[in-house]
Amino acid sequence: MPPIFDKPTADKYDYIVIGGGSGGSGTARRAASYGKKVAVVEATPHLGGTCVNVGCVPKKIMWHAADLQDKITNHAGGYRFTGVENAKFDWKTFKPQRDAYIRRLNGIYANNFDREGVEFHQGFGKLLSATEVEVKRPDGQTYVLKGDNICITVGGQPTLPSDEEIPGASLGIDSDGFFALEDQPKRVAVVGAGYIAVELAGIFNVLGTETHLLIRGETVLRTFDPTLQETLTPWMEKSGVHLHKQTHVTKVEGEKGGPLTVHTDKGEKIEVDVLLWAIGRHASTKGLGLEEVGVKLDKKGDIVVDEYQNTSVKGVTAIGDVQGKWLLTPVAIAAGRRLSNRLFGPEKFKNDKLSYENIPTVVFSHPPIGTVGLTEPEARKKYGDDQIKIYRSGFRALYFSMVEEEHKEPTVYKLICAGPEEKVVGVHIIGLGSDEVMQGFGVAVKMGATKQDLDDTVAIHPTSGEELVTLR
Ligand code: FAD
Ligand code: NDP
Repeated sequence: MPPIFDKPTADKYDYIVIGGGSGGSGTARRAASYGKKVAVVEATPHLGGTCVNVGCVPKKIMWHAADLQDKITNHAGGYRFTGVENAKFDWKTFKPQRDAYIRRLNGIYANNFDREGVEFHQGFGKLLSATEVEVKRPDGQTYVLKGDNICITVGGQPTLPSDEEIPGASLGIDSDGFFALEDQPKRVAVVGAGYIAVELAGIFNVLGTETHLLIRGETVLRTFDPTLQETLTPWMEKSGVHLHKQTHVTKVEGEKGGPLTVHTDKGEKIEVDVLLWAIGRHASTKGLGLEEVGVKLDKKGDIVVDEYQNTSVKGVTAIGDVQGKWLLTPVAIAAGRRLSNRLFGPEKFKNDKLSYENIPTVVFSHPPIGTVGLTEPEARKKYGDDQIKIYRSGFRALYFSMVEEEHKEPTVYKLICAGPEEKVVGVHIIGLGSDEVMQGFGVAVKMGATKQDLDDTVAIHPTSGEELVTLR
């Protein structure tokens, strides 16, 4: 096992990173690659942060499980496979297997640190000054690390309503609790309409849990392009999710871990085994000593940074979820690596920073969504209606030609082009394989591709992706 440090090994470090998640690992390892003396302070025994432990990785594994279930129960029959209809996912034995994989990843993170000379200090980090971090070890002992550059990358945590706001709210779980479930609940209510609510409700539903999704509006993913909202929302309903629109939870009754009754403002009483809140996340800044040292927070509690990730205190930077913009793993990593390039790298990197424009992202819904750039309303607002041309195609992927009508998932592709040169300023896709199709189109948009550039690209046949270079 690689060492876990419990005291300083130098009077002064070049770089102290608080938080050993996506951003922390990315920035620390890049700094170490320039020969710098680097310490990462991580509160838990496990490196990798939200993404590895209770986020992207176990979520995508569960999405794959649900995807398989969908193919086996709903699609395989159309392809004349027999004897598979009753295949059932075994959550109880799958969870330990999934957990073991995550532990392996934790080990890989620790080994990478060890190999590259990054010190892993296990403890809660607190800023004492612009150059000092207190580490509170699990045994309660404290020590201080000193250094000229400190990066805060402590991520965030799920937001839950208080019991004062909604009596019984604390009987519910959050996304961390989802990954702790030892067995598959029979009935679940998910509250929220963003990435996490859509993804986790989708997984539950496809795996056969009676799934209620309670949303405040008329559609899920309200910040996404309207076409995506209008395609996914009815499909979720059609594929079995009990969607409760314009609905607010007013009270929750029952016992922790037992059956619950979820009361809504519509007078419904929804009986479930698990209630899961997925109504957003907030930065984990409590107890970090930020205000005392003068690190500015915004109204939401996120750390305010400039385009170079500098906070209001010289020498203290912040990256990843804690700065509130684009809460995505590759964003935290990319910002972290560029920050270390700028602070410790060669001259050519002295102005390196992450551009937060045109970041591609995927929602692992069923079917998945991929998106980059402006939504249609954003593009119309920015360029004016007469400057915008929309190309759109709705179709069934070839895969579904052999599948029963009721299980044929929709695919909708949409390009938003601006100006006389028809620059592609938004790509929004939903349908089988959209998660994998998106990355390449993300590159194209980043490079400033025009509609003509897409038209000049020869299609790959037969795929769904080819539709994006043949739209008329
Ligand atoms: P984190 O990864 O959260 O790391 C912060 C670390 O700091 C943690 O290890 C924490 O223990 C530690 N810490 C906190 N306070 C202290 C302290 N005071 N002292 C020491 N250590 C401290 N993103 C994607 O790109 N794709 C996905 O598919 C995706 N799926 C997700 C699914 C779920 C359910 C969730 C919750 C998130 C998902 N995300 C996804 C978002 C992604 O996980 C985050 O954007 C990413 O982890 C942010 O990285 P970070 O380094 O800022 O913070
Ligand atoms: P989001 O911010 O994506 O969505 C939360 C949604 O919950 C809001 O959009 C809002 O929708 C709804 N909501 C907010 N407050 C309430 C309330 N009081 N009652 C009911 N509904 C409410 O947060 P998530 O927690 O889903 O995810 C956090 C972040 O993690 C995401 O933004 C994303 O960056 C990241 N993530 C990325 C994933 C990926 O890359 N695939 C997967 C999972 C997470 P409305 O206004 O319509 O009610």
